[in-house]
Amino acid sequence: MAHLCRKGMGKKMLTAIVGINWGDEGKGRMVDLLSEGYGIICRYQGGNNAGHTVINDKGKFILNLLPSGILRDDTVNVMGAGMVIDLAHLCGEINTLEKQGVEITPERLKISDKAFVCLPYHIKQDILEEERLGDKKYGSTRRGIAPVYGDKYMKKGIRVGDLLDFDTLKSKLDDIVSWKNLTLKTELNDIMRWLNEYGTKIMPYIDDTTEYLQSAQKNGKGILFEAQLGALRDIDYGIYPYTTSSQTLAAYAPIGAGIPGAKLDKIIGVMKAYSSCVGEGPFTVEMFGNEADALREAGGEYGAATGRARRVGGFDVVASRYGVETQGADFLALTKLDVLSYMEKIPVCTAYEVDGVKTDRFPSGSKLMNAKPITEYLDGFKADVSKCRKMGDLPAAAVKYIEYIEKAVGCPIKYVSVGAGRDDYLIKD
Ligand code: GDP
Ligand code: MG
Repeated sequence: MAHLCRKGMGKKMLTAIVGINWGDEGKGRMVDLLSEGYGIICRYQGGNNAGHTVINDKGKFILNLLPSGILRDDTVNVMGAGMVIDLAHLCGEINTLEKQGVEITPERLKISDKAFVCLPYHIKQDILEEERLGDKKYGSTRRGIAPVYGDKYMKKGIRVGDLLDFDTLKSKLDDIVSWKNLTLKTELNDIMRWLNEYGTKIMPYIDDTTEYLQSAQKNGKGILFEAQLGALRDIDYGIYPYTTSSQTLAAYAPIGAGIPGAKLDKIIGVMKAYSSCVGEGPFTVEMFGNEADALREAGGEYGAATGRARRVGGFDVVASRYGVETQGADFLALTKLDVLSYMEKIPVCTAYEVDGVKTDRFPSGSKLMNAKPITEYLDGFKADVSKCRKMGDLPAAAVKYIEYIEKAVGCPIKYVSVGAGRDDYLIKD
């Protein structure tokens, strides 16, 4: 492993690690593994609606806002311009990690002055709207993400850099609060108190991260871009409106990171050996009843950010191929193969039937709503694969499953993850 990572560093790679599916593919786990050799890890979109669980020699960590690279001592971690940051949540996350023995200093954590602040009124708005929607709700995490991105595009946002000048910030907010109060009841003084409490704590980390990343690039440092969620949740190319409110695609990584002129050298897609989906919207391969319970239990499919039970299903070739294409993945890390070990037969959705017509293209809108899965069954491997460390250790049926998926989505699988721990993986040769 080490030689592969150092090769990455030697070539001064700009690499993105992104999700191929609906999110929760194990990106945090792969960033933790592959960040060795990269000096800088950068989150480029989203907020604390993310939940990345990482288990390594230091313990078990749940990261919502901080890049997963924070768990390696020799890294600098950047929260990029494309992010939305709830300051209170960030202070809490920093506290928790410090209690777990992770040192977080302004040398190791840099927050873009261009990232947007998620304020308490954004959370209020998010909750009010989900409740108003009732049965038609989008499945928001209720963390204020859609309202804060909405305000950004309405040009009514507060940026992290605004915290450095409280007087100007207060007059900007005064104006925004009277606008908000057309639909909401919120108090300028309450917001100023909140900003005072949490804003001052994160001030030491605020930086012109564009300048920092540009000079790191000039000095030939490797940068790893960490995405949140997956291709199917991208605001433009995902299952709108059951998407998140930001761009989860690799193409956006340089923009969201703060170096829009940079070109990625490598895109690693993280893809799960079966499907899971948090929230509402069409999920063609969804299992129900006992079948779903068994897979959910085997995979521990409960949201890291919210604790919500995730919807689960078999591997979806149609959706995953679309994910691979939209991400432009060079190769894949297939995760959670071990979870399938209990299955006699492994279901794989190879095509959809839409209005009586078979298709292998991922549809959108009402066509996707009406899509029915066409399922094939592969032989189960019925063996514990969690200790396998090379392809030769895997049962023949597991190898067949991996090769089948690889061919079906049209992208090479390079890593196969067989457990949540940092070293629980093998390289597919
Ligand atoms: P992310 O949002 O893409 O970072 O993924 P999450 O952390 O939300 O969800 C992945 C979950 O699966 C986490 O609890 C990981 O610890 C766990 N995990 C990751 N890879 C594997 C694997 O190969 N096998 C098993 N059993 N668990 C894994
Ligand atoms: Mg997650």
